[in-house]
Amino acid sequence: MKRSYLIKPVLDDVYPVIDYGKGVYLFDMDGKKYLDAASGAVTANIGHGEPEIIEAMNQQARRVSFVYRSQFTSEAAESLAKKIADMTPGDLNWSFFVNSGSEATETAMKIAIQYWQEKGIQTKTKVLSRWVSYHGITLGALSMSGHTGRRARFVPLLEDFPVINPPYCYRCPYQLEAPSCQYACARELETAIQRIGADKIAAFIAEPVIGAAGGAIAPPEDYFKVIKQICDTHEILFIADEVMTGSGRTGEMLACTHWEITPDIVTLGKGMGAGYAPIAAAVASEKVMEPILAGTKQVMSGHTLSANPQSCAIALAVLEYIEKNKIMSQVESKGVYFKQQLEKMQSQFEFIGDIRGKGLMLGIEFVADRGTKKPYPRQALITQKMVALAKEKGLIVYPAGSGIDGVNGDSIMIAPPLTITEKEIDELIALLNETFTAFA
Ligand code: PLP
Repeated sequence: MKRSYLIKPVLDDVYPVIDYGKGVYLFDMDGKKYLDAASGAVTANIGHGEPEIIEAMNQQARRVSFVYRSQFTSEAAESLAKKIADMTPGDLNWSFFVNSGSEATETAMKIAIQYWQEKGIQTKTKVLSRWVSYHGITLGALSMSGHTGRRARFVPLLEDFPVINPPYCYRCPYQLEAPSCQYACARELETAIQRIGADKIAAFIAEPVIGAAGGAIAPPEDYFKVIKQICDTHEILFIADEVMTGSGRTGEMLACTHWEITPDIVTLGKGMGAGYAPIAAAVASEKVMEPILAGTKQVMSGHTLSANPQSCAIALAVLEYIEKNKIMSQVESKGVYFKQQLEKMQSQFEFIGDIRGKGLMLGIEFVADRGTKKPYPRQALITQKMVALAKEKGLIVYPAGSGIDGVNGDSIMIAPPLTITEKEIDELIALLNETFTAFA
């Protein structure tokens, strides 16, 4: 008989086989229960096995699962585009549906370049970005990603897009503090633009809260105002990569809303389908679409499964569920409660250096010395050890940071389903405490 293998992330690791999920819990085939404090990869925003979503899934499957977007549209895709326009600020009215966050950021990149071309400017083709960032694994998205670990093998294939430092206040490269720093890290963008030439730059992309590459690094208050102002001054589009932060993760449909910024293009993914379907989107403003509508009338991108009716119906049901149950309005208070509990733990465990984040996207950075903020040596693999210890205890946390770039330390993210109850938060904290006790 022919042998068969599933290529798993670490080929010689043993992965538990999950039998089913319910709410914030996952259960494996041996009956072990896991509290999913990471929503998988910050994705299962409304928890597992929600009957309303399963019903929407079935209803759409009974109608039609697939139509090809260059031949037909569907009620599900049209309604989802409308729902996103209604839920996002400003005139972010145009949705392009794809299947993953990487495709969404690449689509955003292409729309930005096309915008300038349709206006008769052919030279604006670069998309600038920051170090300590992650915009996806496909080559265009990886080009924009300031994640040295994920770039390393493919550098010859990548454009060198990251140009500035992130707003990583815990390890500020200038050793300054906001707001008296006057957002020196944001102002680096000005310098980079002058060096490269605004006539070559289509857009600047950033995650409102840095996720996978940094562990929930939220910017200081006026950071994005400064960034947006620099972009506007130099006629550079601002793309907010809200694949992780969007769809309610920080308590708003878009995290940018916290800082009163409306991007020219935004990307959504992960929580948009909440893990019930592979779906993501690049959402463009009227300003961006205007020259395209007046010109070629076609966005030069697309995948076979773009705007798949099945995925669209599911994402629509997810966003309606979030709205109907007023889930976003509870995120802030849950996040505050979480942070308080984590801060209590900080006094107990010396290796907790920083606690940060926004809403229910929280980060914990581990340090060898809290006073000096000295990180653990890279080869100590602290993030991996912490994630493995937690898993042993039945707690899933998200590995982030892991000393990439040699600047940031080891960190994990806590980003449970937004539907988590206070009792479940307490259970999560107890499991985290057990994990840290075992580590200490
Ligand atoms: N953008 C951000 C901010 C992300 O966090 C991720 C994934 O972690 C992506 C893009 C890529 O999304 P995907 O893994 O769905 O391709």
